[in-house]
Amino acid sequence: MVVVDHLAKTYQSKTSSVRAIGDLHFTISSGEFACIVGPSGAGKTTLLKCLSGLLQPTSGSVTVNGHLVKSPPADMAFVLQEYGRSLFPWATVAHNVEMPLLENRTPKAERRRRVVDALAAVGLADAADRYPWQLSGGMQQRVAIARAVAYQPKVLVMDEPFAAVDAQTRADLEDLVRRLWHELGLTVLFVTHDIDEAVYLGTRVIVLSSAPTFVQDDVAIDLGMERDQIHTRSLSAFAELRSRVYEGIQQAKAAALTQKAS
Ligand code: ADP
Repeated sequence: MVVVDHLAKTYQSKTSSVRAIGDLHFTISSGEFACIVGPSGAGKTTLLKCLSGLLQPTSGSVTVNGHLVKSPPADMAFVLQEYGRSLFPWATVAHNVEMPLLENRTPKAERRRRVVDALAAVGLADAADRYPWQLSGGMQQRVAIARAVAYQPKVLVMDEPFAAVDAQTRADLEDLVRRLWHELGLTVLFVTHDIDEAVYLGTRVIVLSSAPTFVQDDVAIDLGMERDQIHTRSLSAFAELRSRVYEGIQQAKAAALTQKAS
């Protein structure tokens, strides 16, 4: 579904050249829930910009559902950390969710149906006529998720979507996303700084090296389909996977320090 094929990106200006992505190569199959972690400066934002077609790679390519990415892929929806900035404060919740469907000219009856279904799916059926600023942070992020779901993407890309909400809300949103992933048959790419979150959510965790980025480790998360915030997180298998991902990130950081020193 997503092929990142020997991707490289160097930011070039008149005075400097920064190799952000060195040689990044991985494939995500349809239906996977892939979490991407790495130290800060690991090129996660650069990767997402290449995935969304906002940035042209220096070499290599990204393919989504068989199409080479040159502009934002039709099969992809994004949910970002800053829900406050991704929702329009002057539009109702329903209107916010409907907007991408207006843009791609989905017929009116179909639009209405999808908005109602998407809001119900995220538990906001009663909030359709409210405005984003009348909702809590967690509810606003649910609206952003509903908007992505209503668009009916094949691939859902989430960039640290829960970094700005409290721990309990975060746990609820994690379970919501896993449920939607499963029910809707989505392929999910989820960028996070949080190792526990990556292991809890994913079927796979891709650990990125420091820039210039390559895949430091690729960990299959064999914790089964049914996950539960208390039970799953207390399994010894969970602790082992968390240690492995943690070590990968530590190695990436250590390599970056050695590189700087030499
Ligand atoms: P992350 O999102 O993982 O923190 P980024 O993709 O933002 O990483 O950055 C990767 C590397 O590329 C860093 O060394 C960063 O300083 C550099 N970088 C990012 N954007 C630019 C830019 N527009 N110009 C020059 N260097 C950049």
